[in-house]
Amino acid sequence: MKLLRTKQEVHHHLGISRINNTTIGFVPTMGALHDGHLDLVKKAKENSDVIIVSIFVNPTQFNNQKDFENYPKTLNKDLDLLDKTGVDFVFVPSNQEIYSSVPSLVIDFGSIDKVLEGAFRPGHFNGVGIVVSKLLNIVKPHKTFFGQKDLQQVAIIKLLVEDLSFDTEIVIIPTVREEDGLAMSSRNLRLDPEQRKIAPLIYKALTFAKDELLAGHNWFEIRQKVSVMYVHEPHLRLEYFELISSDNFELQESLKGTTNIAICTAAYLGEIRLIDNISIFD
Ligand code: AMP
Repeated sequence: MKLLRTKQEVHHHLGISRINNTTIGFVPTMGALHDGHLDLVKKAKENSDVIIVSIFVNPTQFNNQKDFENYPKTLNKDLDLLDKTGVDFVFVPSNQEIYSSVPSLVIDFGSIDKVLEGAFRPGHFNGVGIVVSKLLNIVKPHKTFFGQKDLQQVAIIKLLVEDLSFDTEIVIIPTVREEDGLAMSSRNLRLDPEQRKIAPLIYKALTFAKDELLAGHNWFEIRQKVSVMYVHEPHLRLEYFELISSDNFELQESLKGTTNIAICTAAYLGEIRLIDNISIFD
């Protein structure tokens, strides 16, 4: 596995791969890798010849400076894991390498980024859009792999790739969970043992709500019951719990009218913010 630090190094090494007509698979990450990330890498390996993973904690997608500063960093362990998983290249650029100047471009994703993550983290998806565009232009992958864990991000990326004609296929991988249902996340590393014990309630609330919906119950009554579940757990603070169309992120009030439908949620344990989602018709 080769560690690449600059755009020039990426161009050079992937240029050789392109001449050899190999398929380049790309997995963008912010590091602090877990089995969810490694699942993306495995899927990338099954679907492409040459695998490149990027590790870059993108400052422009953090609306909360403290969250950015406290984002877990485990670079040596990450490199070791990727090497063992059979990755060919890891791109670990400096901030300066990606942002030689402060971008003045602002991306408006329309209605998709006005709700949920877009509403609670102003500027987040603009930062995601900018960095993903930069990375796709640097790497020029045939296929790019993202996790369903960040469902709204998936919708944003699909829109970005479609509207700006990026020449890459977007492949989406299901959420990898701990045995107790907690969605794997780099931020889980920041949970203390007490918070870690409580965290699986986020997924329990999602599965409960999905079962109730499929049994024909009213969405607003279900959401009320979920609020009560959270009230009984004072260390867990619910930020949102919404039924949405996963195509356009319009809020839904029932299962009628759309098949691509999911529940998305965000909750705080102390100052650690976790997100998760569940599709209704899998
Ligand atoms: P991050 O490092 O958190 O920016 O995530 C990098 C990629 O891994 C994104 O496409 C995420 O959606 C994906 N990802 C994060 N957590 C999981 C998970 N538990 N299962 C599957 N994919 C994940």
